Amino acid sequence: MNIVLLGPPGSGKGTQAKMIADKYKVKHISTGDILRENVRNSTTLGTEAKKYMDAGKLVPDALLIDIIKDRLAKPDVRSGWMLDGYPRTLPQAEAMGNIMPGLGQKLDVVLNIDVPDEELVQRLSGRRMCKCGTSYHIQFNPPKETGKCDVCGEELYHRDDDKAEAIMQRLETYHNQTQPLIEYYSKKGVIANIKGSGDIKQIFAEITKVLDKF
Ligand code: AMP
Repeated sequence: MNIVLLGPPGSGKGTQAKMIADKYKVKHISTGDILRENVRNSTTLGTEAKKYMDAGKLVPDALLIDIIKDRLAKPDVRSGWMLDGYPRTLPQAEAMGNIMPGLGQKLDVVLNIDVPDEELVQRLSGRRMCKCGTSYHIQFNPPKETGKCDVCGEELYHRDDDKAEAIMQRLETYHNQTQPLIEYYSKKGVIANIKGSGDIKQIFAEITKVLDKF
């Protein structure tokens, strides 16, 4: 099964992605994580991408299309993948549509997670991350020990792009560049809309109702 997770920043895509990957044994591919790893390792890609990421803007399509082309060709995704954070623009979606047939792959379903903007701002500004990918919220989902990851004990950090100015920019970018994908995939008949407010487990239950059909 091949899945795309669509939703604004802070919609809980990352959290749901982990749960989906565990239950359905699909490979979780987060382009944000791939880019952040490149930034940490100061690769050429990372240095180029950082300028855009810190400003809450999208990294140019050509770079992302190369990343996804490589990633989908790796053997570990053959039994199914889930893209989290890709595609984010129409050219990215079209490029993916052209890459998949050559790899013998097809997109089964796009889960569109919907959350109102006010809630997204509240969620993102309180979000704290761990290098291991686990995320927390200082108010709604705090770690047991302040500032430390429950899973691996590492120090938590506040993403630069989870700070006030970048958040507003990311939401604007989402509405202008990513939201048109909802219509694009609706026309292809692969969209499932999920209400992303409320309890994490309840949202996951809605997702499983959709994915169990595949
Ligand atoms: P995320 O962790 O998915 O919120 O991504 C963090 C940042 O990485 C985004 O704000 C963008 O700057 C960049 N990024 C991640 N995925 C993409 C993509 N598909 N296209 C362009 N930029 C991306």
